[in-house]
Amino acid sequence: MLVDSHCHLAYDELRNDLAGVLARAEAAGVGRCVVIGTDVASSRLASEMATADPRLFAAAGIHPNDCEGFQEWVALEELSRQRRVVALGETGLDWYRTTASRDAQRAAFARTMEIAKAAGKPVVIHCREAYDDTLDMIAASRPAGVMHCFAGDEKQAKRALDLGFYISFAGPVTYKKSEALRRIAALIPRDRVLVETDAPFLPPEPHRGKRNEPAYARLTAECVAKCAGMAFEDFARQESENAKRLFGWNS
Ligand SMILES: [Zn+2]
Repeated sequence: MLVDSHCHLAYDELRNDLAGVLARAEAAGVGRCVVIGTDVASSRLASEMATADPRLFAAAGIHPNDCEGFQEWVALEELSRQRRVVALGETGLDWYRTTASRDAQRAAFARTMEIAKAAGKPVVIHCREAYDDTLDMIAASRPAGVMHCFAGDEKQAKRALDLGFYISFAGPVTYKKSEALRRIAALIPRDRVLVETDAPFLPPEPHRGKRNEPAYARLTAECVAKCAGMAFEDFARQESENAKRLFGWNS
């Protein structure tokens, strides 16, 4: 069974349809999901959902686009210690959107990495047009973690791997124009690759323009398996082992 390493099931459009979403995921061979928080409210919901359903785990964080003026660090630290919270994030740097200043993003990212290390948990990295700066900050702090929805170049992927990070591919790797990204997917060591949907965003082919959901992680996994020259079943087994190792669950 595959793991969807990054989805936003706490968002209303998916949470209000959770039983159907999870049934379709299981039918597609996606047995576990990491529900990612983007602020304290969605992180709390993610933790509650993961406590209620053994197929779900949670990540707690403040999204870089939403971190300007963020004050709820005590709440985030409390969440970081909860049993079903397996990671901190999403966090990182986004130089594409400008809803939060670069200084605010750097400060929130640095603090989140400290909380993750104190909790002994990995970070889930959001990075947009900021790979070198993000990797510099990871190199300075040295948490464990994953580059979510990887969209960097080969050199940046290599540097993330050298820092011990996992690389997660989302729907865009299936897009026709993403040949460069598929070439990178072929180069990632088998024990460091993850897949995700980032649902409800970024649906893979042929679902572009619709609401994304965890079942579609299978399409991304089929694409990445093909890039890596692996049979789908072998890839799925490896990917779920990788997720288990990174996020530290034992079920
Ligand atoms: Zn996300």
